[in-house]
Amino acid sequence: MLLSVPLSALNRVGNSTAQHLKKLGLETVQDLLFYFPFRYDDFSQTTPINKVIAGQSVSISGTIELIQNKRSFRQKRQLTEALVSDESGTIKVIWFNQPFIAQNLKPGDLVSLAGKTAESYGQLSLVSPQYEKTSDKQLIHTQGLVPVYSLTSSITEKQLRFLIKQALPAATKIEEWLPADILKKLDLLPIAEAIKQAHFPQNLKEAQKARQRLGFDELFLRQLRSQTLKYQLQNKPAPKVPFQEILTRQFVNRLPFTLTAGQKQAAWEILQDINRNSPMSRLLEGDVGSGKTVVAAMALFNVAINKYQGALMAPTEILASQHYSSISKLLVPFNTKLALLTGSQAEANFELPKKKDERRQKIINEAEIIIGTQALIQNYNIPRLALVIVDEQHRFGVRQRHKLQQSGELWPHFLSMTATPIPRSLALAIYGDLNLSLIKELPKNRKSIITKIISEDNRQQAYDFILQKINLSQQAFIICPLVDESDKLGVKSATSEYKHLKNEIFPQLNIGLIHGRLKSAEKEKIMKEFTEGKINILVATAVVEVGVNVPNASVMLIEGAERFGLAQLHQFRGRVGRGDQQSYCLLLASNDQQNPKTALRLQALSKYNDGLSLAKMDLKLRGAGDLYGLVQSGFPELKIASLFDHELIKKAQTAAAEIINRDPDLSKYPLIKKRLLTNKDNEAHLE
Ligand code: ADP
Ligand code: MG
Repeated sequence: MLLSVPLSALNRVGNSTAQHLKKLGLETVQDLLFYFPFRYDDFSQTTPINKVIAGQSVSISGTIELIQNKRSFRQKRQLTEALVSDESGTIKVIWFNQPFIAQNLKPGDLVSLAGKTAESYGQLSLVSPQYEKTSDKQLIHTQGLVPVYSLTSSITEKQLRFLIKQALPAATKIEEWLPADILKKLDLLPIAEAIKQAHFPQNLKEAQKARQRLGFDELFLRQLRSQTLKYQLQNKPAPKVPFQEILTRQFVNRLPFTLTAGQKQAAWEILQDINRNSPMSRLLEGDVGSGKTVVAAMALFNVAINKYQGALMAPTEILASQHYSSISKLLVPFNTKLALLTGSQAEANFELPKKKDERRQKIINEAEIIIGTQALIQNYNIPRLALVIVDEQHRFGVRQRHKLQQSGELWPHFLSMTATPIPRSLALAIYGDLNLSLIKELPKNRKSIITKIISEDNRQQAYDFILQKINLSQQAFIICPLVDESDKLGVKSATSEYKHLKNEIFPQLNIGLIHGRLKSAEKEKIMKEFTEGKINILVATAVVEVGVNVPNASVMLIEGAERFGLAQLHQFRGRVGRGDQQSYCLLLASNDQQNPKTALRLQALSKYNDGLSLAKMDLKLRGAGDLYGLVQSGFPELKIASLFDHELIKKAQTAAAEIINRDPDLSKYPLIKKRLLTNKDNEAHLE
């Protein structure tokens, strides 16, 4: 069987099954082989029937004594009841709404059953177990480790297992891309073995071995990419920015607060890095509100004193202009030449000509610190650029950095800032080319935000609460989710919510509306009014403005909270709790929460205030298996790798570094090269 065989050619795959499989991204035998289970049910031990107790997952084998269909008397459900016995005893088995089972299994059949036990009215029974006749040659559904795949409702586990079993022989056709010496040295399974064992392991040990190999592949690919980046930069010259101790001390002493230990440490690491001749590549990670901006400002300030230029790039215009105003304040006594450069703005704390183009050119030539949006700054050639800081964007490939290179020969230092809570091991796995600075603590004066889940029935109370806070001269955000796909920016929902609030709920208040489709000048104006306290409640879409800093805002109401991911909710919530007063986050979840996980997610948010705990919780809620499938966290290529497996990450990193340092073009490793080039993620986010 070839890897490219379409699934419709397999046994028992009709048109509609093929369609359903396609929805899972499965079209060929190869796809099937790489569709790994997210966990296993362990049925490796068969339990004697008299040892079975309630509430367990068990595997038993025995003989069908009796089997019949019934109707349950209260509900209109079809019941299939059977009695199964082995030498030790007899147990009742029940299935719901699957009357065909009584056709498949007959008294006298030897069966293997796997499922959960329950007790009702004092009688123990096995409920809706997987079943197989023991005469079937190979037991794949009920004995040993049974793979469990993540599926949609139209395909069953049983069906998929059956198909994968058919496809499995083709695994030998998969090309081994890892060099033999790496396989040997790291004691990894050959790829074909790994694939077989990932689907149908004999025992947990085999399953782990398979995972390890497959996880290594992903981590290794990532690391190769990172190491290539690192290699390409390693011998590039960078401007040395000496540490200006006296002025830096003055800067720190003038701050209205004391730096946290984490801020000091991070600043120190950065200042040391830029005081070298090779380009810094660093990630500054700190939870929402941990005070990354001031750390960035310290580095930029040092660049300015040394008569170089530094750029701070924000993802949006609003953030850029907020950074501009907060950094201006920090730099007041120092005569630093500071400018703001976005699509709609070109301002500076020094004199600028009237004409737009001239204004911009003067900023580029003369400003010591330029704050702006990424796209814009990238379009200019900043002559003495020594440091580039990007806020909330993790990666910046060699090409991007090349573009920003000074007209001379020097490569700028690079710092990326993020509030995305990534544990150190994960950061290492994903951004192996970046050094990491972590700000672990929040400033001491912070009160933790009180987060409450509110049901639709209590909406009015939530409004009353907001009104109360506004009467105390505080302010509120109301965040609206997207209503439908066609409305990608959520303009519709936010707009109608805005009208409703303005006309019906809070006619006496000043309500503002901000969404992605407004012109920048308009957004600017609204944010300014909100910052100045002229707007009481700001209705905003989810797409707008993470990172805004309005300390007087103390309440945030999030509509349709169940639609957002934990990380995003945490980001929103970080917009309040920035001032002295107690702040609140109200999560309005619609009544029909079908998914119990949703409730758990929201509860997690009310329980934890820090991003890392939430990230861990998030992983847990997605199930042990999903630990391997971080699809929603934005690392699509990492499906198997255990991101908390420090050892494996280290191994992948070392192996990749060795190869890249020995053979940076991979000319001796054509298979690795091919794999790097065909991998979907290739350079995608390096562009
Ligand atoms: P983030 O890390 O989310 O970007 P910011 O840099 O915007 O956080 O800082 C959030 C707020 O905390 C700002 O108002 C800032 O002035 C304040 N801040 C920063 N560092 C400290 C500190 N050490 N003590 C008290 N407040 C601080
Ligand atoms: Mg920030």
